Amino acid sequence: MCLKTDLHCHTEFSYDSSANPEDVVRAALEKGVAVLAITDHYDVDYADCGMKMEMDFALRKKTILSLKEKYRGKIKVIFGIELGQPYNYPEISQKIVSENGFEFVIGSVHSLKGVPDFYYLDYSKMDDQGMIENLYERYLRDLYKLTGVPYIDTIAHITYPVRYIRDSGKELDIEKYFPEYRRIFESAVANDKMIEINTSEIRKGVNFGAAEKQLFSLYREAGGRYVTVGADAHNAVHVACDFEEAEKLAQCCGLEIFRDVKEKY
Ligand SMILES: [Zn+2]
Ligand SMILES: [Zn+2]
Repeated sequence: MCLKTDLHCHTEFSYDSSANPEDVVRAALEKGVAVLAITDHYDVDYADCGMKMEMDFALRKKTILSLKEKYRGKIKVIFGIELGQPYNYPEISQKIVSENGFEFVIGSVHSLKGVPDFYYLDYSKMDDQGMIENLYERYLRDLYKLTGVPYIDTIAHITYPVRYIRDSGKELDIEKYFPEYRRIFESAVANDKMIEINTSEIRKGVNFGAAEKQLFSLYREAGGRYVTVGADAHNAVHVACDFEEAEKLAQCCGLEIFRDVKEKY
């Protein structure tokens, strides 16, 4: 069995998951995962949109480190986090990272400043295509900002709003934004950040196609060498799902899958 590295999953410490952390680790072990990063959500600016983002950081660290210890030698459990919009509150974000001592940090853009998560927006009411394009341009500007955040290891789901725009029956031509993506990738490479292949798209019914191949090839052309792979599971069942597709995508774009997370504990 091929040993997998899943560097993106959620547990009950995330507001949108009720997965027991040990169940997630056990499921990963059964699926032949060698390295599993637990990366619960923390979106530092959600309170601006009236959404509470509470996390018991101490309990979370204790829980994950005890799992790391219990399963040592069988599976490498990585104490990680998925930080949303850290550039909007750089000091708070830096403090969270310094105080927790994470082993792996994912950076994400889930929302624009003062606007709810792309997941919650009603695109069907956006009759003007220009509105959707404007949202996407703002999303890409924030993705660019993310590449400059010092403690981030990888940039997650780089087409995040697309899945929700398409679910609402609207279209968005990603190719139109390749020049912006090139800028993002060049900045990521210059700042030593990796880019993530997020396989949750596939289980939501979107197979990797020509656009993804072009996008990750663009990252390779910009000097990118490594991608991280994450299933973005919010329950035990989805851990390491559709990794064969991620491996194929990486291979056809000349990219290597990053597996060597340095442990601190
Ligand atoms: Zn995310
Ligand atoms: Zn996630």
